[in-house]
Amino acid sequence: MPELPEVEVLARHLRPLLRGKTIRGVNVRRAKVLKPTSPQQFRRALIGAKFINLSRRGKYLLFQLRAPGRKAPVTLLGHLGMTGRIFLARKNESLPRHAAVVLDLGRENFIYEDTRYFGRLTLDVSAVGKLGPEPLGDDFQSALFAESLKRSRQAIKVRLLDQTLVAGIGNIYASEALFRARISPRTSARRLGRLQVARLWRAIRGVLAEAVECGSTVPLNFGGGRSDGLFYFGRAPGAADYYEERLRVYDRAGRPCLNCGGPIKRIKQAARSTFYCPRCQCA
Ligand SMILES: [Zn+2]
Repeated sequence: MPELPEVEVLARHLRPLLRGKTIRGVNVRRAKVLKPTSPQQFRRALIGAKFINLSRRGKYLLFQLRAPGRKAPVTLLGHLGMTGRIFLARKNESLPRHAAVVLDLGRENFIYEDTRYFGRLTLDVSAVGKLGPEPLGDDFQSALFAESLKRSRQAIKVRLLDQTLVAGIGNIYASEALFRARISPRTSARRLGRLQVARLWRAIRGVLAEAVECGSTVPLNFGGGRSDGLFYFGRAPGAADYYEERLRVYDRAGRPCLNCGGPIKRIKQAARSTFYCPRCQCA
């Protein structure tokens, strides 16, 4: 599932490709992904509109468009859910089977593909208002982070997945940040000491920034086809294998810890897998 770094890398990739392009036609093949926007509202708002910017907030993509005859820009919110992809393809290429929404941009199609239809491409942007601070931004402050952790009895791993605490962290980077901060994923959020919180705050920023950096330099395949688990959109054919060094605990159950050599353990927390080293992360 794409998290902050993958969405950021996708936004950086798409931004220059979309800027200035006008939507000439809208083809909604799965109305579910537009909810609560109706296909009629969607078409009315977007046909004739021009892409002016693309930004990211948490795990959401925010497409800004200028519609003819309207002063206020239109914002289109994209969320990739579990299996969503957004990419541009030439008009003469056949559409993927699970293309949920296709925007006609002239020579190219903007394709939102989702095999499981858990993602969204909608005019309803209310989800963004509920998000906590951006972990790589100035609003994410160690002291405020410590205060909000003090109010929770939840295990810290589970707490980190709450998008109102800090936006954009999912299952992968929660495990990675806790490993880097040497904190047990089972520790109750409010029991973390001042130094632990400071380490975790730094670790979150570190793992996310490095993943964005990695995704910006590795050749990736943003189009259709299989994902190989590096980034959900897949590695470009022939690109070297960076996967091993990129994630240090996630999906490494039973393999040696890169710090101490002991086996990485996998546990379930709130119905999701957590990976950690019981030796290095004992506090
Ligand atoms: Zn270890």
